[in-house]
Amino acid sequence: MKFGLFFFNRFLRKNLNTVLLVSLSLLTIIILISFNNLKNLESKRYQNLLDNVYLDKSIKNIINNLNPKYEDIEHKISEGDTFDKILKKYDVSTNEIKELKRILNKKNNINSLEINQLIKFTIEKNKITQIINFEFPINKKKKIFLTKNFESGDFAYEEVITNLEKKIVYKEGIIKRSLYRAATSKKIKPNIIIDFARIYGFQIDFQRDIRKNDTFHILYEEFVGDNEEVLETGNILFANINLGGQDNELYFFNKKNYEGHYDVQGKSAVKALMKTPINGARLSSSFGMRKHPILGYNKMHKGTDFAAPKGTPVMASGDGQIIKAAWCGGGGNCVKIKHNKTYSTVYAHLSKFAAGIKKGARVKQGRIIGYVGSTGLSTGPHLHYEVIENGKKINSQKLKLPSGKILKGDIRKNFEIDRIKTDIYISELLN
Ligand SMILES: [Zn+2]
Repeated sequence: MKFGLFFFNRFLRKNLNTVLLVSLSLLTIIILISFNNLKNLESKRYQNLLDNVYLDKSIKNIINNLNPKYEDIEHKISEGDTFDKILKKYDVSTNEIKELKRILNKKNNINSLEINQLIKFTIEKNKITQIINFEFPINKKKKIFLTKNFESGDFAYEEVITNLEKKIVYKEGIIKRSLYRAATSKKIKPNIIIDFARIYGFQIDFQRDIRKNDTFHILYEEFVGDNEEVLETGNILFANINLGGQDNELYFFNKKNYEGHYDVQGKSAVKALMKTPINGARLSSSFGMRKHPILGYNKMHKGTDFAAPKGTPVMASGDGQIIKAAWCGGGGNCVKIKHNKTYSTVYAHLSKFAAGIKKGARVKQGRIIGYVGSTGLSTGPHLHYEVIENGKKINSQKLKLPSGKILKGDIRKNFEIDRIKTDIYISELLN
């Protein structure tokens, strides 16, 4: 043994450098291996941590999905609507709107939205609101569907031809409480009820003229899908509302340039002037003697007042030319329109004038001319409306409204033929 140790010592002494080098190398290797092991362990831990974060995220996702962050929206186009206006109302981001318009604009003209067109879309409300799907009817038979691809963020574009079958439906009912209730109880679609009220809007005040047990009759178009579900409504072909035993029949005339509803005399349901040039207002003071709310003494009120919130749009009650759009003392900001040789109208106390409304401008019936306010001698926001007939202020609510279009000559004959066909059609349906 001693002998062996001696040789080992000799060997060590002789090769000290080599031994040191080998030991150092071994040490380095050991350290390296340990370090790597440690590193692996660390990275495993990190991986676990990551997994937990991911899990946490997943849970958050699931919880988020339980909250109603999706919203289905049905928007009916009304006057002055644009895509930007509609989508901004629901907080859709500007970029998203831009992208949507770019895709829609490729094959269609989306700048002319039609009133009453129904747009349906679903939005997802996160930090930013984005559109998940979008449905836009080009016409009764063609619809565009856009669907968001979550991976690419693009919209998939699809055009769908809906093969709808047209059905003609006849309904009648007795009004007990309101036209709306009576009509919905007969399963008449809201679109048709609104249209019905609109075509009678010039001659009937639905709040005041209707009495219990008045009746209505209506013939209209419906478009049904494969499963008999009503997907669209069409025109009202015939309508009648019997007020206190008096018929008020209107027939649809589907002729280019004359399209619309006419009575049995061939007079258009659209009159030259509106009774109420404002929507959703309450008549607050009628034409006649009254104690002036500000001046305090009895004075003839030569107009009709409609109470409405400040900013409610006021419409031109008929086609015509603006002869004044300026301050007019007690009337505050007022607009005066000359419709023809006989009639003019005045709109007073406006908070402001609509864009483009100035002396000399021509306006169409229904065009917004200004907004309800309380300027001039006024106690609160309302519209003071005057109708002037041959220079004399008259009661707009009692006015036998001047007729709009009247069918004459061959056009009238065509209308009469259509009218008889409709009457026959109804009598066959009823028998
Ligand atoms: Zn007034």
